[in-house]
Amino acid sequence: MRENRFKIALTILLLVDVSVRLYYQKGRRKFERVAVKHEKREKFFYYLVGMGIIPIFYYLLTSRIDTFRLPFPTRVRWLGAGIVFTGDFLFIWSHRALGSNWSPILEIRKEHTLVTNGPYKFIRHPMYAAIFIVGIGITLLSSNWIVALSYMLPVICMYLVRICDEERMMIEQFGNDYRKYIRSTGSLVPKLRA
Ligand code: SAH
Repeated sequence: MRENRFKIALTILLLVDVSVRLYYQKGRRKFERVAVKHEKREKFFYYLVGMGIIPIFYYLLTSRIDTFRLPFPTRVRWLGAGIVFTGDFLFIWSHRALGSNWSPILEIRKEHTLVTNGPYKFIRHPMYAAIFIVGIGITLLSSNWIVALSYMLPVICMYLVRICDEERMMIEQFGNDYRKYIRSTGSLVPKLRA
């Protein structure tokens, strides 16, 4: 029964992410694509991420995998809720800044612009950073290693592979502007300057 409090908190926090995604997904089809990269691979990764979500549903809706516990005390689990909340905030901020330049796969739109404001002023991949932060929060809040692994493994594989190709694609499109942007920002963590 005690576990239900954590499950309700996690459900609410994840619904925020899902709603934001659905909102931005809605207007997306209006924009014409001028380049698409690694479409098949991206779809395969989405399939893996989708498979990873099944155990999370299982955890949230049943008590069948509650025994696969990690030994986190209650205080640490609530800290996890705060971390998911922080990830949600960064996720929303990134979506707002990226606007119509966002796409679920690697692509360049007609009239694509290089965004360097909002969280993009500090890091080049705030949305992926947000997804990783949410993963750390989910791990602590659920305190369940099946949930943690089924979220983290596909997400880490997908986004770490994607970052290199995404930056290559951005250089092809924006050339020296993106190279200059790389020099002034961190990838997932802000660059520390002397
Ligand atoms: N990697 C970024 C964006 C994720 S969405 C992040 O983590 O926040 C992926 C799409 O965003 C890519 O297909 C690319 O076209 C676009 N994109 C990535 N960085 C961008 C930027 N700085 N400005 C405009 N579009 C960008």
